Amino acid sequence: MLQDNYITFEIGKTKHIALVAHDGKKKELVEWCDMNKEILKSHFLCGTGTTARLIAEKTGLPVKAYNSGPLGGDQQIGAKIVEGQIDFMIFLWDPLEAQPHDPDVKALLRIAVVYDIPIANNLATADFMLHSEYMNASYNRKVENFNKTVEDRVKSMK
Ligand code: PGA
Repeated sequence: MLQDNYITFEIGKTKHIALVAHDGKKKELVEWCDMNKEILKSHFLCGTGTTARLIAEKTGLPVKAYNSGPLGGDQQIGAKIVEGQIDFMIFLWDPLEAQPHDPDVKALLRIAVVYDIPIANNLATADFMLHSEYMNASYNRKVENFNKTVEDRVKSMK
């Protein structure tokens, strides 16, 4: 739906969830997914290579695997957010460990905000998100109407 400054996109009842955890956080995300698999099984799951594989093995749930994060997996997930194919993310980045792909991590966090998708960066937020009333309903996220922004910018620069 096109409003003046925003375009809204529906996050359906069935979410498209990306799961990403840095090495120091993988164990806790895998355990959390296992604990919550009754809820997660109703949604489409994907993740960066290693995280996706570990979660699939532990929970038995299907988890589509992209490349490993340091090899471009974060960027692949970012691209899917841009294309509207991922609309919910749990991304446990490690605040105590430097990452070789730090620019990709920042880019992924940025694009998730640009596209107004729910993101959890720790398990407390993930718990709140998973138990939100919006998990069983659709939700309209709002994305800046960039075409209009371009049009306005072009006009103002003539
Ligand atoms: P991994 O990637 O799941 O392949 O380890 C995660 C990351 O480091 O972003």
